[in-house]
Order: sequence, then C-alpha cells, then structure tokens
Amino acid sequence: MNKIYLDNAATTPLSSEVLNEMMPYLTGDFGNPNSLHSFGRTAKSAIELARERIARAIGCEPSEVYFTSGATESNNWALNGIAKANRHKGNHIITSKIEHPSILETCKKLEREGFRVTYLDVDEMGLVRIDQLLHYIGADTILISIMSANNEVGTIQNIQAIANIAKEKNVIFHTDATQAVGAVSFSVREMGIDAMSISGHKLNGPKGVGALYVHDGVVITPFMNGGEQESGLRAGTSNVPGIVGLGKAVEIATRDIMANSKKVRELRDYFIKKVVELIPMTQLNGHPVQRLPNNINLSFGMVEGESLMYLLDLNGIAVSTGSACSSGSVENSHVLSAMGIAPDLAQGAVRFSLGRNTTKQDIEYVIEKLVECVEKLRKISAMSKSQVGKEDE
Ligand code: PMP
Repeated sequence: MNKIYLDNAATTPLSSEVLNEMMPYLTGDFGNPNSLHSFGRTAKSAIELARERIARAIGCEPSEVYFTSGATESNNWALNGIAKANRHKGNHIITSKIEHPSILETCKKLEREGFRVTYLDVDEMGLVRIDQLLHYIGADTILISIMSANNEVGTIQNIQAIANIAKEKNVIFHTDATQAVGAVSFSVREMGIDAMSISGHKLNGPKGVGALYVHDGVVITPFMNGGEQESGLRAGTSNVPGIVGLGKAVEIATRDIMANSKKVRELRDYFIKKVVELIPMTQLNGHPVQRLPNNINLSFGMVEGESLMYLLDLNGIAVSTGSACSSGSVENSHVLSAMGIAPDLAQGAVRFSLGRNTTKQDIEYVIEKLVECVEKLRKISAMSKSQVGKEDE
C-alpha cells in the first residue's frame, strides 16, 4: 500500500545529510567532550561547530546557545529559570491560551509556587490579542512567553510586535519557536527576542535534542546541577551525535527556507482549495495567510476527526486530530476552543502537516482518499442518527 506521511508537525524523518554528519559521532568519534585528550577534543569541537551553526542561523552569538533534550526542556527551563532568577523584580508572567502543554503546565506549576500568570485570549484565527497584552502588562510583569507559530492550526504570531512591546516595557520575551524555525526567518538579536526554544526532530533532525537561546545579560537559574557543561547551566554529558545533528538540521532548514517554504506552500494551497471545493461543510481552521507553509487544519462537519484519522490510516495516510483522547472521552483541543470553534467542528478537526518530501502525487492521492473517507463517515453518521430517531419513536 502507498504510505503517505502528513504528520510532520508531530515529527519529521531524519534527513540523510543530517545522518551523515552524525555518523562519525555514533561510531569512531565517541569521546566525552569534557575529556582533555584528542577523543574529547574532537567531540568538543563538533559541539562548538553546532553551536556556531545555530547562532548563525538565528542571528545570535554562539555563547547564547545552550543545548537541551528538546523543546519541552527548553520551555520548562526558560520559564522556570527566568521566572525564578527575576523574582525580585516581580511575579507576573504573561502567556497565551494556545501554547504547547510544556508552557501551560509549567505556568500552572509556577502559579502553585506563587507566580501570577495571565493567559491571553486569541482571536478566531488564532492570533494573540495584542490589546490584551498591552492591557495586562504591568510594573510586576517579568516575563512574556508567546509561541512563534502554533503546532495545531499553524497561525504565525506577530512576534516582532510582541518583542517591541516587551522591550518598551522592559520585560523579558521568550518564544517557543519549535514549529517556526525553518518556516519563519529569525534574527533574534535584531528582533529583540530574549529567549527562544528550538527542537531537532521538527526540522528533519534527531529526536531528544534541542536548544535554548538566551540573550546575554538575561539571568536564568541552571536547569540541572552537576558538571560545568553548557556554562554550568545545564549539567550532564552532552548528547554529541544529537547536538551535531541539530546543528546541521537548523543550518539546512534556514539555508533552504525560501525554496522549501515556496514548494510546500503551493502544495498546501492546492490541497485546501481542492478539498474545500470537493467536500461540502469543510472549514479551514487558523489564519488563512499568516500560517505555517506546511500546516492544514480542516474541520469536516458531521465527521469525527478521530474516526477520519483511523480511516485514513487504514488507507496508509498518517494525519493527526485536534483532539486528545483521555480516559475514554474525547476532549476538544484547547487551541480550537480558545479560537471559539464550535465543539462539533472542533471534534471534526484534522491536521495535515506536509514535509519537505511531500509530492503533488501524494497530495492528489490524499485528496482522493479523503473525499471517499469523509463521504463514508457521513453516511454512517446519517444512518446512526436515523436509527436513533427510530428508537426514540
Ligand atoms: N512546542 C511546540 C509548539 C511543539 O509543537 C512541540 C512538539 N510537539 C514542543 C514544544 C515540544 O517539543 P519536543 O518534542 O522537542 O519536546
């Protein structure tokens, strides 16, 4: 069976260019970067090259890049570390209702520890309400954390405007750029971003590795205590092959940003146009233009997203839903709820996230199968409704 992967927002395949770069550090060049002999020095230089590559790609100094185990860690560290190191200045944090759980859960934990957190609303396209940001920012606000682009609906935030407000009010600004690096151009220093989270596996790099950029002068408490790795802020023997892979992946993603984005955006727009034409009662969720080039989030009326996802899977097509199944009940996505999407449409939401290797042929196949699957599910839904009607009589 033809297998098509349209879940690149969940994770991406490792690119061969990245794997080639990592291979020596998975085999012969296995040294501990903290060792002083030649094995150690080889590993250490590889890490420093990765740090330079990331710094060049996002427009900062290598000394401002810290390696982590992924964006979950980067987000946890940024919020906990910055909040605690700046507590003497105030205890108020501002974030949004549509952040990734690694931000929202950390904020909840900080609230339990005495911080006050404001969760900004978004509009119906998923854009953070700047008017609310201006309203809630105060003398005790120490940190603003707003994601650059949303993982479910792909909406890209007005990051420059938020960074400007933060700068003007002298508040530290962190952004979770996990989904945005490689799709949006960053120059963190120029833009006035103080901290930024990055993950390897969303950019055709390895899993379990990421980075946190922290602007020089921003104080942050260590994430882990122990050795002197990562300037003593994140102890533990470095994941050398992972870091090498992350450096290469970020370099490639930013190097090829225009070409990749253009190709993927064209396929995305074609897909949306065709599906909306062919399938009645279909709605695009998220911003129509200011969205990640690879993100398509559609709600199909009278269809359960979960059922559609499974049916597509039976046809070899991997997508994901906007809802998470917890303890037997399907909970609506917090992102779609915050955008004011009606619960029945939120239940029918499916995310198709394209990748660098997605072809027009893949897209044609998915459209054909999608039409069949939605039709099938709507027939079943109509039949079960009429059955319920009969039982009620
Ligand atoms: N933030 C966003 C926006 C994400 O999409 C993800 C991954 N789903 C994360 C953070 C967490 O990244 P990681 O898997 O590297 O921990």
